[in-house]
Amino acid sequence: MIDILAARGLTRRDFLKVCGGLAAAMGLGRAAVPDIAKALEHAAKRPPVIWLDFQECLGCTESLSKSRYPDFLNIVLDMISLEYNEALMAGAGHQAEAKLKQSMADNKGAYVLVVEGSVATKIPSAMTIAGRTSIDIAREALTDAALVIAVGNCASFGNVQAAHPNPTGAMGMLAFMEQEGIDTGKLVQLPTCPVNPIHVTSTVSYFLTYGKLPEVDQYRRPKIFFGRKVHDECPRRAHFDEGRFVEVLGSPEEFERYCLYKMGCRGPQAYSDCATVLWNNKANWCIGTGQCIGCSEKDFWDELTDFYAPMPGVAVPGFGGIRVGADSVGIGLAAATGGAIAAHLAVSAMKGRIGRNSDGTVAEEKEE
Ligand code: SF4
Ligand code: SF4
Repeated sequence: MIDILAARGLTRRDFLKVCGGLAAAMGLGRAAVPDIAKALEHAAKRPPVIWLDFQECLGCTESLSKSRYPDFLNIVLDMISLEYNEALMAGAGHQAEAKLKQSMADNKGAYVLVVEGSVATKIPSAMTIAGRTSIDIAREALTDAALVIAVGNCASFGNVQAAHPNPTGAMGMLAFMEQEGIDTGKLVQLPTCPVNPIHVTSTVSYFLTYGKLPEVDQYRRPKIFFGRKVHDECPRRAHFDEGRFVEVLGSPEEFERYCLYKMGCRGPQAYSDCATVLWNNKANWCIGTGQCIGCSEKDFWDELTDFYAPMPGVAVPGFGGIRVGADSVGIGLAAATGGAIAAHLAVSAMKGRIGRNSDGTVAEEKEE
């Protein structure tokens, strides 16, 4: 391990920082850093990893291969033996198939299986590789794996392919393993779209450190990543609680980063730690550039659409609200009032009259 670090120009201090980052991502305290460091340093044998792609767009591979934060992926990839991955391996065709067969035979009962994409169960011919259906390939690979990681919503729940009427019978790993009578105790699902690289590297590191999976919920999602709603950790939550909403895209309220609930944000329905782990090497995240569509959830295409309409059943604060000058005016007082305020603020902003109060709320300068 030290050789690998030196080759990458990393010092032991850098290594411990990485371990600290992993501990934080896994929801563990600093006390876990020595355990993680020891496990990563003394991994006697790099675990063999077989990566299969079924019905998907390759977005999860893209998400992982582009990750540079903070070299987690490179280090973890240096610590595993990636035996088979159609997108990244040099071999193709018969050569690749021979490699897959050999790897599965050599590492039977001991390999980590990463699955990207759903199995086509209703129309098996919709998903075939080298003449074999995804049903056959998945059944064999899942049965002989020591650990299964379903990356992304496709592999976890079927994603858009499984949306009504689900023509191919797209099925995620939990449902497929249950149907086939394969032990689901070795399965962990990481269902955002695409998968978050930090979720993958942290799950692998946890397994290497403790020799077991982290605690999971009913969908086999690690609770350390999927135990809380996006809404619970969102930096716009204070605006939600105070009834300050974006009502029109491009409005001053959007500029002020008010809550996006009324624009259709699904943060109140989605369980994931996206607000803290962020995306694109921690550059941004969905709510920073648009809104949450609930991609961590089962059947979100059927259950959480229309994405541009407020989701019913959410307790929305009725009072509080935008402060205009010295007066407090609650958006919740009346929809018409809220609309009028929004329109008035938009006009005021265009005229350059909007300022900020000392507590950060919007203030309007008085007409001369
Ligand atoms: Fe954040 Fe969306 Fe919740 Fe508003 S509704 S606080 S934008 S997660
Ligand atoms: Fe999916 Fe919402 Fe997380 Fe974005 S913020 S990745 S849409 S769960």
